[in-house]
Amino acid sequence: MAENFYEISRRQTRPVMVGKVQIGGGAPITIQSMTNTFTHEVQETMDQIKRLEDAGCELIRITVPDQKSLKALSKIKSKMTTPLIADIHFSYTLALAAIDEGADKIRINPGNIGGMDRLAQVVEKCKKHNVAMRVGVNAGSLEKDLLDKYNHPTPEAIVESALRHIHFIESLKFYNMIISVKSSHVPTMIQSYRLLAQKCDYPFHVGVTEAGTKMQGTVKSAAGIGAVLADGIGDTIRVSLTSDPVEEVKVATYLLRSLGFRKDGIDIVACPTCGRCHVDLEKMVDQVETATLHLKNPMRVAIMGCVVNGLGESAEADIGICAEKGHGILFERGEVKSRLSEEELVPQLLMTINQKIDNREQKK
Ligand code: SF4
Repeated sequence: MAENFYEISRRQTRPVMVGKVQIGGGAPITIQSMTNTFTHEVQETMDQIKRLEDAGCELIRITVPDQKSLKALSKIKSKMTTPLIADIHFSYTLALAAIDEGADKIRINPGNIGGMDRLAQVVEKCKKHNVAMRVGVNAGSLEKDLLDKYNHPTPEAIVESALRHIHFIESLKFYNMIISVKSSHVPTMIQSYRLLAQKCDYPFHVGVTEAGTKMQGTVKSAAGIGAVLADGIGDTIRVSLTSDPVEEVKVATYLLRSLGFRKDGIDIVACPTCGRCHVDLEKMVDQVETATLHLKNPMRVAIMGCVVNGLGESAEADIGICAEKGHGILFERGEVKSRLSEEELVPQLLMTINQKIDNREQKK
């Protein structure tokens, strides 16, 4: 593992509890994602939540667009180990009801909830039930007077909108807020967070909205979220991808690791493949990556596309596999431990990683 010569110092914020997870106030930066199933399809939603939790997602947002989804909420919540964030647009009554159904946090865009009196009702209910609220301001849905004033959804317009809502909510003596000021335009989003960080001490949810496909969204998020985090700003992040949400958790995890906010974890070394490779190595790497992403134990794991060169090229790894068509080897520190069929390679590798972690834990 690389040594740390420099640590990013983080902006001080007040702490906000979302269920049992603290956001801000010096707590580690958390990763969140959002399901993309139909919420009322309970089993499908719960399956996706389980996959997200297994990948290391720490807070999960679920859309609540209608009564069917609302009815599913408490059932879904009862199976979750992570806090549940209810994502509400337009309907303050759904926001009120989602709190009754057990949401730990409500995500609203105050600009589309139907006016300040309705917003006030949601705030009062959050206060009564000790539920957190994300005030999510988006460049795409700014108030008309601000667009008239600034001509465009500039960072100044976005921040003025956020502060307007923050001050209104504070006037109701509610402070359990997490703020986001998102834009799909990366420089606008970066500057919005920078400006708002000078104006309040609430924790921030950082993300680039509508970032796009796996490739484009990953790069945009690395640039946007990365720049904000590198300034020490940000307490929980969501990478938005037009993809399986588990991919969002992977990207977010690597982003936090790359900036030194997470120091441990499985370091996967994989060969780029060449004409000697006769297996679907990308799929194998993907399976191992998904299954080990949540592990905090430092370990270097190699996944190589042939036996002839693979072993020598990855002798530094703690453990690894070299795959050939139909068979392969499992090795530890350059020494062959077992010869396996192609199908056994990934399951056996994962089992051995877990055994090694268990052994380390027992020795502590
Ligand atoms: S390990 Fe084998 S398959 Fe992978 S790049 Fe090296 S020679 Fe090619």
